[in-house]
Amino acid sequence: MAYTVTNPFTEEVIATYPKTSFEELERALKQAEDYYFTSKNESVVSRAKKLLAIADLMDSKREELAQTASLSMGKLITQALSEVDLCVEIMRYYATHGPQMLATKPYIYGLRREAFLHYESSGIVLAVEPWNFPYSQVIRVFAPNYLLGNPVILKHASQVATCAQALDDLMSEANLAPGAFKNLFLSYQQVDEVLADKRVSGLAVTGSSQVGQKLAAKAAANLVKTSLELGGNDAFLVLKDADVAKAAHDAVSARLRNCGQVCTAPKRLIVAKEVADEFIKLVTDELNKVKLGNPLEKTTTLAPLASKAGLELLDEQVTMACENGAKVLVAGGKVTEKNGYFYRPVLLTGLEKQNPLYDQEFFGPVLQVYVANDEVEMLSIANDSSYGLAGAVYSQDKVHADELAQKLSTGQVFINQPATSHPELPFGGVKNSGYGRELSDLGLYEFANCKIIAW
Ligand code: NAP
Repeated sequence: MAYTVTNPFTEEVIATYPKTSFEELERALKQAEDYYFTSKNESVVSRAKKLLAIADLMDSKREELAQTASLSMGKLITQALSEVDLCVEIMRYYATHGPQMLATKPYIYGLRREAFLHYESSGIVLAVEPWNFPYSQVIRVFAPNYLLGNPVILKHASQVATCAQALDDLMSEANLAPGAFKNLFLSYQQVDEVLADKRVSGLAVTGSSQVGQKLAAKAAANLVKTSLELGGNDAFLVLKDADVAKAAHDAVSARLRNCGQVCTAPKRLIVAKEVADEFIKLVTDELNKVKLGNPLEKTTTLAPLASKAGLELLDEQVTMACENGAKVLVAGGKVTEKNGYFYRPVLLTGLEKQNPLYDQEFFGPVLQVYVANDEVEMLSIANDSSYGLAGAVYSQDKVHADELAQKLSTGQVFINQPATSHPELPFGGVKNSGYGRELSDLGLYEFANCKIIAW
């Protein structure tokens, strides 16, 4: 199976890559294992300097890398540039703060006896990554693991094989030691083989809950440690005292970012009845303003979806939601009159519990709105989800918003701002959104051997 990249705007195939051969896979595992042992003789500070150099190199190639992402999965060029910038920030963050975070930590035990915790590398980490953030999802795994001394093997989504290759080329150009990072065009069967290989000790998956569950089961059978960053169906709570105009603007811009293909996008808007009419009107107005077009043009505000399969799935989901009682407040949908996997934004309401789509993630520009009678009902709708990635609470009373935030069953909540990722903050979810944390100090410890030496 070759990896094929199709431009979602032109619908033309722009690149194909042959599948990794058995020999290439074996060579990559051998080099990664060798690197794992030799990196034990290099200091974290030395790797931090190299990480800074990779960040600088990536920064110098931001336009070219952003263009590759836009052409491969349709991201608006401005958002692709921001994604490259985020990668640079993540690497600089770990290079600057990582050595201190990995410093030996003293413990006292028994009758004032001393012990020391050492953060050590643990082995090869396999990163299975999605197409929606083709660079930053990879760098979130690579940067902390590189600092630690863990080699990373990448199996990227086939849709963004171009971006995977660009990252591999970047690491070579930065003279990264062989084995520290390697992109491979693996088949699913080869992913299973890598997980069964004794040289591999970690698996980081970002993707759908279904794939996460499947790969975690394979990893568990081989006692490979897993971190799972999976899907989300985030709630966005607008309380009766919220700045409604800001809430509506933020809800739409966050939901339409990356053409709605963001795990932490506000997919369920839960609004207090006192401000519901105003909020829905403002959201409707914003949705009607979008300009579909070429992702490379700066005037375009809504790009095509990344793939035909994604477009068809979204279309089926909306049709099924409506057949089962959902009401359409903004009628968008699949664009058939021109090339490209375009989908105009849709605003749905009335998705009741018995609707088969009630607990499903819509990965595209589809918003759902729920009007709640009080905050108890708001929380009950928000937490009635098999996902638990992130969420947002909008209120003029930050202390009260914080009280509600503490009652949301998610890994992250943002107050008066949409959920997004920052290098300094732990990122991850609960329930079917996965487990483990990326970014921040916690991301650095995810695949560390936290080794105690007791005196
Ligand atoms: P996906 O279908 O789960 O694919 C993710 C990755 O898994 C891809 O590299 C894919 O490769 C690979 N894969 C799929 N089936 C596999 C198998 N049986 N064995 C080995 N590898 C397999 O997800 P997606 O459609 O790319 O991404 C969208 C999902 O990711 C959404 O649910 C979104 O919410 C979630 N996401 C979560 C986060 C987070 O941080 N929590 C961030 C971004 C996205 P192929 O492309 O070759 O199939």
